[in-house]
Amino acid sequence: MPSITAARGTRDILPAEIPVWHWVEQISKEVFESYGMQEIRTPVFESTELFTRSIGDQTDIVSKEMYSFLDRKNRSLTLRPEGTAGIVRAFLQSGMALSGDDLFKVWYSGPMFRYERPQAGRYRQFHQMGAEILGSPSPLLDADVIAMGVNLFKKMGISDLKIKINSVGCEVCRPVIREQIKTFLGANLPHLCEDCRTRFERNPLRILDCKKTGCQQYFSGLPQMTSYLCEPCQDHHHSLLEFLTAMQIDYIQDSRLVRGLDYYNRTVFELISNQLGAQDTLLGGGRYDRLVEYFGGKAVPAIGFAFGVERAVLILESLKKDIQTSKALTLQLILLGESAKLTGIALAQKLRQLGLRVEINFNSDNLKTLFKKANREKIPYVLLLGEQELESKSIMLKKMESGVQEQIPLTQIETYLSNLIPLRS
Ligand code: AMP
Repeated sequence: MPSITAARGTRDILPAEIPVWHWVEQISKEVFESYGMQEIRTPVFESTELFTRSIGDQTDIVSKEMYSFLDRKNRSLTLRPEGTAGIVRAFLQSGMALSGDDLFKVWYSGPMFRYERPQAGRYRQFHQMGAEILGSPSPLLDADVIAMGVNLFKKMGISDLKIKINSVGCEVCRPVIREQIKTFLGANLPHLCEDCRTRFERNPLRILDCKKTGCQQYFSGLPQMTSYLCEPCQDHHHSLLEFLTAMQIDYIQDSRLVRGLDYYNRTVFELISNQLGAQDTLLGGGRYDRLVEYFGGKAVPAIGFAFGVERAVLILESLKKDIQTSKALTLQLILLGESAKLTGIALAQKLRQLGLRVEINFNSDNLKTLFKKANREKIPYVLLLGEQELESKSIMLKKMESGVQEQIPLTQIETYLSNLIPLRS
């Protein structure tokens, strides 16, 4: 163990794990692009106020989990705990105006930071990929966005996911829902945890997000939140369910689903996997029709989601899919002696410029060891350049599979290899 280790809740993604990460990133990008979305990259830190104002100061994220610090000019900055707030800020700051059927459709990928208690599938630095679509209030968009989440994982080979859906209403019906929750939980208030009791007056919906089993036992039998929705919210919700049914997407209506961020209204949803243990939410999202306005822009209805890349990787690893995304080397160039190094390094440079994947030997000139290594790494061709070859201005090529060896004149080696090996394959 080194004397300094990775900070608690952070982890290295070592080369052996990278092919799965590339696979998740590559498939997600393809799916996002199939919906006409473009990538956006926003800063990893933002002003603290951006998150306190959007996510809500009663939420766990803002009240307990933010990595906030003062910079040298005493400005309070925070490592982003999620992607939506920064993207809405970027949209507003870019001065882009939307009209008609122009939507702002973006996807993102990157690290997020939350001071949570680390456990399997829960880290302090984790990665999310997500989508945000600004510019339409239509429930058709909600259905399309949920289907996009489902498609992402289907394409990765993850299909046994549960889809939970709820509507948390709008500013008209939310007060009614709040009162219903307070009436339902009121008698058991003394049995709930301190956090829940604090939230009872200020934000009773948040209570339902409490993960403590001691509290959760009092949540069963909660009335369906959707029956207290105002008419427009009910219509929206019904249309969404109809669209999902038309797409043959099965869902579960879950009245307890409120999600950990305050900016959501109407539709909220999660994709759940039973491969994930206690941290079973793979993807979460919802509508946030008032957020742009809240940051000082014109009203722009919007919806988005994010999924945890670590959790997708955990599921793929448990499925034991054989994923190979990086390309193997095609050539091992063995250089024996100082003059061979001079000629050889220049040759390696040219071959790589041609698009061949070439490795040279740095430490060992033991032929047996080097051929063994080429065999182990399944490198199909080995080139050998030593004193003898230099004298005859040639190079020895061994085709590892057949064991056939040939002497090729140095002046012809590039052409020879370009014909032999499909370039950039
Ligand atoms: P949220 O932004 O809380 O809606 O989370 C969206 C998704 O990000 C979750 O469903 C998880 O897959 C992932 N996620 C959230 N928090 C963490 C964490 N601390 N560690 C790993 N993944 C996380």
